[in-house]
Amino acid sequence: MEPREKFCSYCGALIPYMDESCPSCGKAQPPMPGMRIAVERPSKKIWLAVLLSLLITGLGQVYIGQWRKGIAFFVGTFLMGFVLFDIVDYGLIMLFGTIMAIISAYDAYMTLKSGAK
Ligand SMILES: [Zn+2]
Repeated sequence: MEPREKFCSYCGALIPYMDESCPSCGKAQPPMPGMRIAVERPSKKIWLAVLLSLLITGLGQVYIGQWRKGIAFFVGTFLMGFVLFDIVDYGLIMLFGTIMAIISAYDAYMTLKSGAK
């Protein structure tokens, strides 16, 4: 149960709990516990995660704290490139690497966008 009223820290008047200033004396009230002063900004920057993933596949995942996924992206891409190296030409490997980087970047983007870790 949330309290509906509180006492002014300055004049002691009973005032509505969520009021930011006292209607009686007009002084600003100290922030109440549980009250959000500012909307929390995401601590991880989406553009940075995307950029990192584009530079090195999986790095964006590592940046946002998804170590295993990031390493899986990186190692998977590396191994696939290694295997493909004997079979297909260089251009296709680069294309594959680019696609993996974009998928990695997109994954990092969606992860941060949804707020999930
Ligand atoms: Zn007051």
